[in-house]
Amino acid sequence: MFSQQLIDFGRKPNVIRELSAYAGRRKQEIGPENVFDFSIGSPNVPAPPQVHAAMLDLLTNADPVAIHAYTGASGALETRQAIADSITRRFGHHVDPEGVFVTAGASGALAMALKGLTNPGDEVIIFKPHYMEYLIYTEAYGAVPVVVSTEEGSFQLDPDKLEAAITEKTRVVILNSPNNPAGVVYTADRLRAVTGLMARKQREYGHPIFLLSDEPYRELSYGAEVPWLMDYYDNTLVCYSYSKTLSIPGERMGYLAICRRCACFADVLDACAGAARALGHICASNLYQRVITRCVDVVADVDYYRQNRDLLVSGLEDMGFTCVRPDGAFYLFLKSPTADSMEFCQKAKEYEVMVVPGHDFGVPDYLRVSYCVARETIERSMPAFRKLADFYGLKK
Ligand code: PLP
Repeated sequence: MFSQQLIDFGRKPNVIRELSAYAGRRKQEIGPENVFDFSIGSPNVPAPPQVHAAMLDLLTNADPVAIHAYTGASGALETRQAIADSITRRFGHHVDPEGVFVTAGASGALAMALKGLTNPGDEVIIFKPHYMEYLIYTEAYGAVPVVVSTEEGSFQLDPDKLEAAITEKTRVVILNSPNNPAGVVYTADRLRAVTGLMARKQREYGHPIFLLSDEPYRELSYGAEVPWLMDYYDNTLVCYSYSKTLSIPGERMGYLAICRRCACFADVLDACAGAARALGHICASNLYQRVITRCVDVVADVDYYRQNRDLLVSGLEDMGFTCVRPDGAFYLFLKSPTADSMEFCQKAKEYEVMVVPGHDFGVPDYLRVSYCVARETIERSMPAFRKLADFYGLKK
């Protein structure tokens, strides 16, 4: 017998990948210039030159055996040190190298942390709209996702809604800012209120509640401050990714960083290390750990995304579409002209526009437009969006 849960996970359609594959087929059929693929969040900005320069240098000059050898499971000490030093330079001394675990992207960090921190039956609070994989990582280990709404219209955190959802079984709260799919950056005030509430609740219940801060888009902020949550709350673990910051999603690099003041630090560290082991993690890529060591503070051209955002938001708002103006990440969350965004996204395909319905993000009346695309794709897509606006009778 197979696990029905795993079969269900395997068979659950990945709408984003299906749309992206469909866009690929349409590009072959009618030419890439006629297809407007806003489905997937894969950076179109090239990796910064320092990344390739580091690779070339390593491949040319480093010891050819050592460069491909296993590293320690949590990563090479130099890489963990470089990451801890970078955090200290930017935010203060919150993390020591022993609290850093180099992972296969933020996904690897999330999966190991959720497995490491939860027991079956524990509750994990997730705010919607949310990254869809949180549900899988939570449920796979027997924990229970508790999905909590954010503030109507702004998608900012609502401490009252959290208070209504938090229980003695709450073990983890996941936050993701800048947010996929809403592009919202949670404000310092709301974060202070949320972490204050968590601190009060863990005192009341007499056990820690962990904050898992999923931050693949930390560097993709267009002016808004992205607060560093270890400043606010000691029981914080940060899941970080170089997929977007360095435009290397296929290389699978990221880290889990545990605050040095975290409750039960040694147990948290060992439980996460044990979880990684149970998930078959041996170590992250040796070559790329060395690249990260050298490029730890390098960031891809974020301004390109900001210009894409401005072009897309002003173009779509002029046609009568409404959205929350995104302050970060490279996603625009658009209010669907139809109550069910699936219907709109289906219609959009008729105009060769691929956008993602909000259902799997927990908000079915919105849809996601990924603007990590070539500028021309946005420019050329405008007449198609205009036809959609006309079809649905939108007015500025
Ligand atoms: N978390 C969020 C909110 C994401 O949007 C993504 C990827 O798009 C991930 C995690 C996983 O990213 P990674 O490539 O680092 O595994």
